[in-house]
Amino acid sequence: MSWEENVRKVTPYTAGEQPSGKVIKLNTNECPYAPSPAVSERMRCLAEMEAGTGAGMLRKYPDMNATALVKAVSEVYGIPEDRIFAGVGSDDVLSMAFMAFFNSDTPVIFPDITYSFYDVWSELHRIPYRTLPLDEDFRIVPEDYLCDNGGVILPNPNAPTGVFEDPSVIEKIIDFNRDRVVIIDEAYVDFGGKSVLPLIDRYDNLLVVQTFSKSRALAGLRIGLAFGQEKLIGYLKDVKFAFNSYTMNVPAIELGAAAVRDTKYFEETVRKIIRTRERTKKELRALCFSFADSEANFVFAAHERKPAEEIFKELRARSIYVRWWNKPRISNHLRITIGTDEEMDTLFKALKEIVS
Ligand code: PMP
Repeated sequence: MSWEENVRKVTPYTAGEQPSGKVIKLNTNECPYAPSPAVSERMRCLAEMEAGTGAGMLRKYPDMNATALVKAVSEVYGIPEDRIFAGVGSDDVLSMAFMAFFNSDTPVIFPDITYSFYDVWSELHRIPYRTLPLDEDFRIVPEDYLCDNGGVILPNPNAPTGVFEDPSVIEKIIDFNRDRVVIIDEAYVDFGGKSVLPLIDRYDNLLVVQTFSKSRALAGLRIGLAFGQEKLIGYLKDVKFAFNSYTMNVPAIELGAAAVRDTKYFEETVRKIIRTRERTKKELRALCFSFADSEANFVFAAHERKPAEEIFKELRARSIYVRWWNKPRISNHLRITIGTDEEMDTLFKALKEIVS
């Protein structure tokens, strides 16, 4: 017998490339704009405090409950602190939530085309799962989720499609599944969707997950949030603190708090991205691309003649990175993150040459 027989073997998540050098990076849904100036201001302040005085914050372990951040989120969102959990990016929050809430022998359910981490976490945590096909237009079939299951996870808007479902559709699924936890992954909800956050008052089985990586331009800092009733959040904390009690590092807690308080900057950033997205839809249509309508900071598009793989490679040769998956049902689509107007103009010009 070899030690290898006892290894937990997993197929890891495949992240989009993080190329260095001067490229146009439209492949991992980051924000093309800088974070709020309040973040760099707070960073300068923290650096000064650290500078040799011993009064800094890095010498000591962080606050397990990330109170400064949770307090800021609580004030800005108008949600009590004990209904908020902060973690190291929403990937961390979601993985912990899978571990905490999906423990049934009955399979957990999620769409066949969705965030490709869900099956990875299911495999990692040995959770049985079943995928439910989206329809031809990449919409969920809500009735499919009214079935026996071990838990539900849905992103809204969905990724990589960008398709948004109305909260009333999501509520029916939450309501039917009151005996299991339903996780709504709202990584992209700030770009025009509507959050189901108000529903946590009514449903003790609902966990809403959000991130600072997209609309708050802090993917590098790693901040994710979960919202739910006190009991649900309590169970999530128990699992997290059993895994690693120091959830978030001190700079993330402090800078995240500064970011969330700058609501004006946040709203401006989101507005700019939405404007560019709507322009992108027009430009792509004119180039004979088709796509489901997106409410996210990306568009998932297929060209009427040219295969996605070829476009992907030709863009890459021009140092423009978009995302392409060689997977059933989506291998002819490209997921294009919304960049700055200037970046998108360069993309449209390149696409014009490639598809004509
Ligand atoms: N959920 C979805 C649907 C995503 O696309 C992403 C980004 N890859 C995440 C969660 C995780 O983002 P983060 O860990 O940066 O918060």
